[in-house]
Amino acid sequence: MSGGSSFSLGEDQRAVQDLVRRVATERVAKRAAEIDRTAEYPQDMFDLLRELGLLTLPFPGEYGGSNSLLSSCVAIEELGRVCYNTAYLLLVQWTPIGGILAGGTEEQKQRLLPGLANGTLRAGFSLTEPQSGSDVSGIRTRAKRDGAGYRLSGNKIWCTNAAVSDFILVAARSGEEERGAINFFIVDRGMKGFEIGRKEDKLGARGVPSSALFFDNVYIPPENMLGREGEGFKNVMEALNASRPLIAARGVGLAQGAMDLAAEFVSNRQAFGQSVSDFQGVRWMLADMAIGVDAARLLTYRAAAMIDAGAKGPEMARAAAVAKCFASDTAMKVATDAVQLFGAAGISNEYPINRYFRDAKVLQIIEGTNQIQRNIIARTILGSTKRKV
Ligand SMILES: Cc1cc2nc3c(=O)[nH]c(=O)nc-3n(C[C@H](O)[C@H](O)[C@H](O)COP(=O)(O)OP(=O)(O)OC[C@H]3O[C@@H](n4cnc5c(N)ncnc54)[C@H](O)[C@@H]3O)c2cc1C
Repeated sequence: MSGGSSFSLGEDQRAVQDLVRRVATERVAKRAAEIDRTAEYPQDMFDLLRELGLLTLPFPGEYGGSNSLLSSCVAIEELGRVCYNTAYLLLVQWTPIGGILAGGTEEQKQRLLPGLANGTLRAGFSLTEPQSGSDVSGIRTRAKRDGAGYRLSGNKIWCTNAAVSDFILVAARSGEEERGAINFFIVDRGMKGFEIGRKEDKLGARGVPSSALFFDNVYIPPENMLGREGEGFKNVMEALNASRPLIAARGVGLAQGAMDLAAEFVSNRQAFGQSVSDFQGVRWMLADMAIGVDAARLLTYRAAAMIDAGAKGPEMARAAAVAKCFASDTAMKVATDAVQLFGAAGISNEYPINRYFRDAKVLQIIEGTNQIQRNIIARTILGSTKRKV
């Protein structure tokens, strides 16, 4: 059941939807449980996405892409219906794009973007440190000047995709002061003094590794600094706002997939001499799921279409935060109710539904927790300081 999922999509997006839905059903779905169980990076799924040309979707035409965030959301949604981890492969490939476009020199763009688009390069994005996640201004990794370049020292945690990445965009404090300017640096695999730690053993999102990073006086040449000193951070954070609809799309796909599984289960399960799907209480639960999924989808498509049309600033930040927050909260609610409708089978690892439940929780936490999204939304209503009344 697709719901009204092609509403407001153009011909290009519908072609992406048809293709990815078919591939998701025929080739991705059967791998989903195994990827979750083994927590091994699904190289075969990455190769499949690359062969289909799906990695290219959000990149500007001059760097080998189709330049459509809306198409990118549709692809993530369709994969997310059957396999959160395979949808995640697209997302991690795309997270660095905005920062490179916003802060990068033309040389950096040419060096990195076509490779990400065609899958010959993989990347990670690293902000979070042991003492600071939401409070980005609390990061302690330092970049000290060394001639024309910098020396990077510090630790990061939760860097997703690091274990398979060719390079990582790393946030570090570039000024001398304790809470001075933050910049991003391109850290290449194999740079002297750079180490990737063990991967986290996770509740959800298990197929794409998240690891700690260690920097011991790593020399960063000048051509690997993103943006001018003191300017990189704002650009990259704005770019992160613009990629938020992609997280929302994963919530939409997850919720749709969980609802479909729940509907199928209750239609085939009997209790008190009738199909469980004939109880009104159960039917209303399914109806509420559909209401949430439809609303989340429309908010997500709206945010993506606005960004494709060039929206910027608070208007864009709000639409993207509303979509991320609503879609991931919907995913959590739908997955929780879907487990309920499965009864004990919802707790058994023999059935797929508890995977949706575990993955949904991740969505409410990553890329700015949903409390932080609400702070962003409230700021667009109230401004950054309290108004005098
Ligand atoms: C699967 C996974 C993958 C990840 N991948 C990456 C990655 O690739 N790169 C990366 O840099 N990071 C990554 N992260 C880290 C993620 O971005 C952080 O976990 C997230 O930003 C929250 O930070 P924290 O865990 O330190 O929580 P904290 O910031 O310590 O927050 C703890 C709680 O307090 C709440 N809180 C904090 N501040 C406020 C506030 N001002 N108002 C209201 N509530 C508040 C939070 O919402 C949360 O509920 C990943 C995390 C996970 C789980």
